[in-house]
Amino acid sequence: MPGSSSRTATTVWYCDNCTYGPLNYTLDAYCPSCGHPRCVYCTVTTIKSRG
Ligand SMILES: [Zn+2]
Ligand SMILES: [Zn+2]
Repeated sequence: MPGSSSRTATTVWYCDNCTYGPLNYTLDAYCPSCGHPRCVYCTVTTIKSRG
């Protein structure tokens, strides 16, 4: 069904400093691996859960 893309989608990000991830965009403001705060260079993407 078009028009409902946010139903099971989760926004995640990958640390650009150590490539650690995926991290929760909402909960993880810092990389737990290296302590790098999420910045404009970090990769942000959206993944969809199965189901
Ligand atoms: Zn990191
Ligand atoms: Zn970064």
